[in-house]
Amino acid sequence: MAQTQYKSGRELSSTSLITWRIIQSAVWLIGFAIFFCLVFYPSLGITLLWDVLIPVAPLLLVLSVGVWRNVCPLATTNLLPRHLNLSKKKKMSVELQSKLGLVSVAALYLIVPLRHLLLNNNGMAAAWMLLIAVVIGVAMGFVYDWKSGWCSSLCPIHPVEKLYGGNTLITLPNAHCDSCVHCSIPCPDSTPNLHPKTAQKNSYQKISAVLLTGGFPGFVWGWFHVPDKTGFNSLSEVLQSYLLPFAAMLGTLLIYLVITTVFKAISERVVINVFAATAVSCYYWYRIPNLFGFGMYEHDGLLVNLRNVLPLWSITTITVVLTVFFFYWLVFRQPNKKSWVVRPSFS
Ligand code: SF4
Repeated sequence: MAQTQYKSGRELSSTSLITWRIIQSAVWLIGFAIFFCLVFYPSLGITLLWDVLIPVAPLLLVLSVGVWRNVCPLATTNLLPRHLNLSKKKKMSVELQSKLGLVSVAALYLIVPLRHLLLNNNGMAAAWMLLIAVVIGVAMGFVYDWKSGWCSSLCPIHPVEKLYGGNTLITLPNAHCDSCVHCSIPCPDSTPNLHPKTAQKNSYQKISAVLLTGGFPGFVWGWFHVPDKTGFNSLSEVLQSYLLPFAAMLGTLLIYLVITTVFKAISERVVINVFAATAVSCYYWYRIPNLFGFGMYEHDGLLVNLRNVLPLWSITTITVVLTVFFFYWLVFRQPNKKSWVVRPSFS
């Protein structure tokens, strides 16, 4: 069905392919510039990465994951072997894809607290993190076909794309795959209203979905209640950064399990949407005050200090409006049967 539905006039024309290549190159250059700054101008690099790019990302994932999937600089790099026909184009089994999906959820939960310990204040460490992701992604791109090696399996952002991107605004042309080879089943890009529980064929997929959907709102809340450090000297300092996010993660995971087990009358899709809206709202609830000097830890995540310029109620209004918007968008709006991007013709 999806094949018929999406083999439409929305596939890439040669003009739009050139346009997308220009946009991809421009965003790649921006990504490289951030990497360069992280190494040579760490303070600027950290601001650009953590206080400009990343705060925009959740909103973009909610509104149009397809934009991000088409232009992500890491994806552009990792898919280079495939674009240049240097990949072995191996087909990844559903089982391996599911295992790597679980690894990506684990990586998300393990890497994000590292921001407090190291990555938020150490440009070189953040650059190493990006470099490691590139090396793994490119290596996978040399072996596996299209997005199966990284973008739809190992990438730690991908679980969040699935959680937030369930009711996307627009379906864009697929600016990477020139034809569909069924590299990922189901293809996250081409499945309408995808959510973390869309694929439930094996226990890896089931565990990944529950860990992400149930645990993420608590994890986000807990993460914002841990201050940044400039390094760590003992194991207990490491554990402190993980303790609250993990404890809160277990809390919301438990609530999720109780709701989906006891209240079977409530549609699980609705529960997933409520948890997704809670997680993204919680992110901006804390992130916007942090960005403008109203955060609970004054210097953490600060972009520009407007504490003496703006009244507190203006920041509160923005966060409340965003929360209402996310619940409307993800929970109350009818699923619009749109996929992130158009599936190209099957090869
Ligand atoms: S459109 Fe086809 S080839 Fe491209 S990522 Fe999806 S399944 Fe793989």
